Amino acid sequence: MLNRLTISQLTTSLAKREASAVEALRSCLDRIRQVDSRVHAFLSVDEHDVSRQAEQADRLLQSGKSHEEMPLLGVPIAIKDVISVLGQPVTCGSRILGNYRSPYDATVIERLRAAGAIVFGRTNLDEFAMGSSTENSAFGPTYNPWDLSRTPGGSSGGSAAAVASDSCIAALGSDTGGSIRQPAALVGCVGFKPSYGLVSRRGLVAFASSLDQIGPLTKDVRDTALMMNVISGWDPRDSTSIPKATPDYRTCLGGDVRGLRLGIPKEYAIGGLEPEVDRAVKAALKHLESLGAEIVDISLPHTEYSVATYYIIATAEASANLARFDGVRYGLRVEGNDPLELYARTRGAGFGAEVKRRIILGTYVLSSGYYDAYYLRAQKVRTLIRQDFLKAFEKVDAIVTPTTPGPAFKIGEKIDDPLQMYLSDIFTISCNLAGICGVSIPCGFTVDPKLPIGLQFLGKPFGEETVLRVAHAFEQTTAWHKEKPPL
Ligand code: GLN
Repeated sequence: MLNRLTISQLTTSLAKREASAVEALRSCLDRIRQVDSRVHAFLSVDEHDVSRQAEQADRLLQSGKSHEEMPLLGVPIAIKDVISVLGQPVTCGSRILGNYRSPYDATVIERLRAAGAIVFGRTNLDEFAMGSSTENSAFGPTYNPWDLSRTPGGSSGGSAAAVASDSCIAALGSDTGGSIRQPAALVGCVGFKPSYGLVSRRGLVAFASSLDQIGPLTKDVRDTALMMNVISGWDPRDSTSIPKATPDYRTCLGGDVRGLRLGIPKEYAIGGLEPEVDRAVKAALKHLESLGAEIVDISLPHTEYSVATYYIIATAEASANLARFDGVRYGLRVEGNDPLELYARTRGAGFGAEVKRRIILGTYVLSSGYYDAYYLRAQKVRTLIRQDFLKAFEKVDAIVTPTTPGPAFKIGEKIDDPLQMYLSDIFTISCNLAGICGVSIPCGFTVDPKLPIGLQFLGKPFGEETVLRVAHAFEQTTAWHKEKPPL
């Protein structure tokens, strides 16, 4: 049952020699064999490679390496299949990459390796991280471990389902508009979106470069702090990475929330909020108050424009970023009579419907006649959205919202209605536009069926310590995160 442990529990066992890294790995692999034909969280696991890593970890443990020196020594961490791992395929959930293999490790992977982690299986996702349900994967959807007829959210749905089904100890995802926090909420784990510039994007296949951040999905808040200690920090090879010393995030655990001011944005009281989610979030606010936090009403007046703004900026950036997949440089190639035909045939065959929709939208908003009306205006609104947050953070230490308007939805329920799908990110998207940090943690369950509900804390740019402190205080005085799906 080592697969059920958190990072801190597993490293304690490894340090005491109660378990070995090879055993921990084996229990994750066994779990995958047991459940993943139903969950489909993983796209690939290179058993030979991961076994070699686990043996190496055991050698280091035997030679006396401590978890102070290598904080993730022997811990299997699953990786969203949009992050480059040397010598391994990176599919991005797309056909267009064919059998491309990464010629280098992403910076986050280098850091995981330096910390002794076992860089484990590759998790499923919406194609190029575009989606909120993992149904846009070219390799079939991932299923929610709490109810296999439902989606685990997305786009990091594979990472979320892998953590929730205990098929790994923790995972990496990426969040451009909610893709870590939304699936974390829908499967009942912790999902953290770092402030823009805190975690290197080098080696993350770009979707929308000004919004993308890599972050952890974990079984508890302590593990998020441990993962952030490893993956965050300046990377001179990512020009958007901020040269700034990072703290030891463990120091914000166990802190108390007395006197902290938590803002509730009045614009987030939307019509589509499901009553059970509303109830759970209200109960969570009461609970935070009983812990000594002060709940303050705030306003983020430009919130209503965030989904529209996001779908202009994200698609514009995606249309530029995805231009590189042309059948010449990477992966799939469908021959044509001339280069243009080769590009068109390759892209026509290689990209799925949602990716095509976004490339078309993005190309349109950037085209000369429409650039000012759409793209430029969206950039201005983005500034207003960021200013709303900065102003709010003059009054409050963190902002609290539901992570999603409802619990996990059925497979197929929203896939034919892109607008409905886009609205499932209504509470998570503005965080990326503003470049601030956010976390989703479990705060309850719906009754029938029993599905997890997520609570989101948003913090100032580089205010991760406050967000982790509040999230940890909430988690340590509730038991929601301990529940396991009935797999
Ligand atoms: N669901 C949003 C989208 O489809 C966000 C995706 C993400 O964060 N990668 O773009």
